[in-house]
Amino acid sequence: MLTRRAALRAFTFTTLAAVAGRWLPESARAEENNAPLVPEPPPSHSSDAPFTLGPLPFAPDALEPFIDTRTMEIHYGKHHAAYVNNLNKAISAYPDLAKRSVQDLLRDLDALPDDIRTAVRNNGGGHANHTLFWNSLAPASDTKPEGALAKAIGSDLGGFDEFKDAFTRAALTVFGSGWAWLSLNSDGALLVESLPNQDNPLMFGRTPILGVDVWEHAYYLKYQNVRGEYVKAIWNVLNWPAIATRYEDSIKGTI
Ligand code: MN
Repeated sequence: MLTRRAALRAFTFTTLAAVAGRWLPESARAEENNAPLVPEPPPSHSSDAPFTLGPLPFAPDALEPFIDTRTMEIHYGKHHAAYVNNLNKAISAYPDLAKRSVQDLLRDLDALPDDIRTAVRNNGGGHANHTLFWNSLAPASDTKPEGALAKAIGSDLGGFDEFKDAFTRAALTVFGSGWAWLSLNSDGALLVESLPNQDNPLMFGRTPILGVDVWEHAYYLKYQNVRGEYVKAIWNVLNWPAIATRYEDSIKGTI
């Protein structure tokens, strides 16, 4: 029999699944069996909804206590899902655009029809940014950048501690909503920057290596207005092996 807490959690997943359009059967089974929550893979592409919410690469409670379960559930199941849905709505009148990747759309916003440029900037940016964010996070570990990424952080940014200070500063000084980024310049050098709203470095000719969401929805339930505590906590759950691989794949394109 479900406990009251499990019943409440099951209700939560029902609500989220209605928005995300998936997850429920797996999550419901996991609740019953007391097993870890493993999101299902996304549905296959269809012509009326070319962009889909990709799987969360960890259970919603996997980043506790640094990112709380409820924030993960809402952030992924509602916010990210809404960006995907709104991107699909925006491009629905332009079937040719549905064949392109979201990264391609963001690289050349000027080429888009005037009536959807802002919607693609905000919602395509939101989709790409959150996908990259989830794939930059992992349960807490002691990992740090290694290999080519560690070397580049040393030569381009003065070392890991200097990078951490600069990135934290970028995250804390975003006014309003936005993201802190570790980006790759077109000349192959790393830089730290912050961008407003859902803007992505691709819009400015750079390649995103790591992005950290500093919109209030990313931390408010646990940290309220204290963004600094959230940014401090994030360093515990960064997936450095995945970020280093992204760097190595990206640098090939700039050589
Ligand atoms: Mn967000």
